[in-house]
Amino acid sequence: MPVQIPFDTTYARLPDRFFHRMEPKPVAAPRLVKLNLPLAEGLGLDPEVLASPEGVEILAGNRIAEGSDFIAQAYAGHQFGHFNPQLGDGRAILLGEVVGRDGQRRDIQLKGSGRTPFSRGGDGRAAIGPVLREYIISEAMFALGIPTTRSLAAVLTGEQVFREAALPGAVLTRIAASHIRVGTFQFFAARGDEEAVRLLADHVIARHYPEVAGADAPYLRLLEGVIARQAALVAQWMLVGFIHGVMNTDNTTISGETIDYGPCAFMDHYDPATVFSSIDHAGRYAYGNQPRIMQWNLARLAEALLPLLAEDEQKAVEIAQEALGGFVPLFQAAWLEGMRRKIGLATAEDGDAALIGGLLGAMQEAGADFTLTFRLLAEAAADPGADASLAALFEKTGGYAPWAAQWRQRLEAESLAPTARATAMRAVNPAFIPRNHQVEAALAAATEGEDFAPFEALLAVLARPFEDQPGQARYAAPPEPEQRVLQTFCGT
Ligand code: AMP
Ligand code: MG
Ligand code: MG
Repeated sequence: MPVQIPFDTTYARLPDRFFHRMEPKPVAAPRLVKLNLPLAEGLGLDPEVLASPEGVEILAGNRIAEGSDFIAQAYAGHQFGHFNPQLGDGRAILLGEVVGRDGQRRDIQLKGSGRTPFSRGGDGRAAIGPVLREYIISEAMFALGIPTTRSLAAVLTGEQVFREAALPGAVLTRIAASHIRVGTFQFFAARGDEEAVRLLADHVIARHYPEVAGADAPYLRLLEGVIARQAALVAQWMLVGFIHGVMNTDNTTISGETIDYGPCAFMDHYDPATVFSSIDHAGRYAYGNQPRIMQWNLARLAEALLPLLAEDEQKAVEIAQEALGGFVPLFQAAWLEGMRRKIGLATAEDGDAALIGGLLGAMQEAGADFTLTFRLLAEAAADPGADASLAALFEKTGGYAPWAAQWRQRLEAESLAPTARATAMRAVNPAFIPRNHQVEAALAAATEGEDFAPFEALLAVLARPFEDQPGQARYAAPPEPEQRVLQTFCGT
């Protein structure tokens, strides 16, 4: 079947120093594991063609689709606070951009597609476990309504990759509004290539912030736009207990999408100090640090943009600092608004932040499960009979009852009917998140026995996170002590 993908790759029209053109690095025996049908259709791609032998060769990087530019993008980045001037796509290839049925332009990228000039010591490959992990979590984030890159396909390569053991190799097809990162700006800024910084800024304005194109100070408006989107994004992460795990500046997008699902994880019991990543020894990227780290990353973007903000450097610094000062109020407003909705408040009162803080404090002391607490609160809003299940989560401390008394008093100040409130709460408090122990079990079955049934079952549940799904209760349950996953590993 001829594979016709209507590529229109604006990034490849930027100067040569933005990327390297590649040759495909064929793999032995590509085999399709998963194709995301609704996503393919939304992109205007025919799933049947993608699943054909020729389509799978393209998804494995064995064949270049007609019109594909096949490029590795250059970028730099701060990794755990240390600047690396040259990272780049070491194991990813941009096939090209397509405009979907919704009129949105998106990148189609292969991840795990072989070595590039940016690979340094790496093999350019990926193992099936991390590929499916990214597939599961990115699609779960999408279903939760959180801006994210998405997963179009996973293929086995028929080759082994060597990590702590020999593992089945795989390639993920990732879809993103773009793969342009804070680190892409840093790459050129660190080289003193002001012309490239300006070209890149113009490119991202046209692509992601067209509303600022005609503004008086377009580059300042761009910086403010990225700050606003990232403040809203981190607030959404916090509201579902998501821990990115590796918030380096090369993993911070300009579009405002979550990117790079490596050692990320959802928190089970609530504790702001939670860290899963095996390489995050100092807890730099702990759950509770994420807003602060995002602001730090955005400061690195502002630095890269300084020459575009004003001719006088001191003036540019002042402009950048003022813009960065907007992050905390934007984040706090989005977080508070989201938390109010999570506890069922439709109006705002002065004491709400303290009420929310009281709940979080009690959850932390009792080691209460984050997701389950809020989901059960929706039940309790309609039916105080559900208080018993909540009290059980706070069994260690007895912290639920005193908080619930304050909460009910606050709810009385609103006229919303209890059932309507419960419905609204269920729409923001998921029953299902990708719990680590369930994810690990699905990956183990796929890696050890080529059994993809648990992966498919988990994906199906996570596609409807806000619906009660009778018969799927085990996916909603927190881990038993012996099921607890304590560490996650980088997606390599
Ligand atoms: P990440 O931690 O996924 O954000 O990756 C950081 C950098 O390391 C990026 O430049 C990646 O392209 C590169 N990288 C990660 N894994 C590999 C690999 N297996 N082979 C080559 N480069 C890699
Ligand atoms: Mg990355
Ligand atoms: Mg990664």
